[in-house]
Amino acid sequence: MSRSGFIPPYLLQQVAEAVSSGLLAEPDLRVACRHTMDLDAGFRAGRSAHRARTQAADPEQAGPEEPTALAWTVHTAGNTQTLPGDPVRDETDESPSGDVTVDEAWDGIRASLDMFREAFGRTSYDDAGARVSATVHYGQDYQNAFWDGTQLVFGDGDGRVFNRFTIAVDILAHELGHAVTEHTAGLVYRDQPGALNESMSDVFGSCLKQRVLGQDATEADWLIGEGLFTDTVRGKALRSMSEPGTAYDDPVLGSDPQPGHMDDYVDTRDDNGGVHINSGIPNRAFHLAATGIGGSSTEGAGKIWYDALLTVGPTTDFAGFAAATVAVAGEHADVVREAWAGVGVVTDDGAGEPADRPDEHTPAEQPSGTREPAGVVEVRRSGGFAGITVTSSVDLDGDDPRVGEVRTLVHRVDITLLEHEAAAWAERPGRPDAFTYVIVWDGHEVAVPEDHATPDLLRLADLILSARDR
Ligand SMILES: [Zn+2]
Repeated sequence: MSRSGFIPPYLLQQVAEAVSSGLLAEPDLRVACRHTMDLDAGFRAGRSAHRARTQAADPEQAGPEEPTALAWTVHTAGNTQTLPGDPVRDETDESPSGDVTVDEAWDGIRASLDMFREAFGRTSYDDAGARVSATVHYGQDYQNAFWDGTQLVFGDGDGRVFNRFTIAVDILAHELGHAVTEHTAGLVYRDQPGALNESMSDVFGSCLKQRVLGQDATEADWLIGEGLFTDTVRGKALRSMSEPGTAYDDPVLGSDPQPGHMDDYVDTRDDNGGVHINSGIPNRAFHLAATGIGGSSTEGAGKIWYDALLTVGPTTDFAGFAAATVAVAGEHADVVREAWAGVGVVTDDGAGEPADRPDEHTPAEQPSGTREPAGVVEVRRSGGFAGITVTSSVDLDGDDPRVGEVRTLVHRVDITLLEHEAAAWAERPGRPDAFTYVIVWDGHEVAVPEDHATPDLLRLADLILSARDR
């Protein structure tokens, strides 16, 4: 499972670029952003090592009739990158530590665990009472929070754009929500399944916030990460579930890129296919369902969404998840269906696509071998550490000196074969920070993760992208 950072990479990139272009004259802030991204990259490299230390409660500690005790420990990394760091406070210690960050994490984890047990009947993220381990004060000026597959991690923020990441209780539930999703549907962290993964975490986050504040669905503000931005940022929060795209509009950060309807779905290869962007669509569907059902969001739509999460598989798309929620909604099925229709995921007559439908892949006409490759070949390379996309093309009917070699490579690479292989690659998230190559030719468009690219394909891409230097 990919590590799921709370702050999307594009936002960190935005801050770093704004500083370097002079929009924001704070060199140390730029360093802080870059440092956060570097830590993220280093963290990803080492995450498999962390995965080894899963913790589970000892089943013998609880009697057969006793509910498994909820257990959690908050550590401090002391502004280093050491995980989990030194334990500061666990569930047996009811007295505040005096460190506001430690205590916010402690309170938020307890409230999250209580919500999962009381509202959803789930005992910790694995439903077997696993101890929740969290680390605060991670890194220097670290501008992110994440679930690493074994534990929660929270940075202090840089203090200029971002405050500490424990400041909003919904962030605690959001990160623990990633652990729950990993142990249930296992939604692949890319494209629509990835956006659903993100959205489920926001759903858990907002439910917890409303529960803590004693609000019902109509009283809630539906903001995610309220208070995370400092006063210098023009924005009320990181995301709005009721009005995606309206959470912030700032000269440095840009504006909230989230859509709230399928008409505005963002096709991008960045951010694992825009998982933090397109989550606005299912987020708004949840808001519509929760307010339509009324009362407690957690007990109403929240329970439906959680129950649906237990029934779907890793590659579920929006329509599949919509169908799953309708299927478990009981008396609220019509309200839930209307909510998904309101964001364009199902049509108004309720016709949705079935969950986990097989990819209806029509084998394309086989062009290679039957005729000489012709037309325009385009290559787009995205991702990479900097997240910069470059595009170029070669016209095989033109007089470009590379036409001969490109034609040979196009023939050898066989784009229709790539398309079939791409269906399998899409089942797994790509390696973080790797490039993705998109080849467009003869009515085909296929995305190839860098780690699956053959030498021929890499040569083809380099050859075409070299046109940018001419
Ligand atoms: Zn997340």
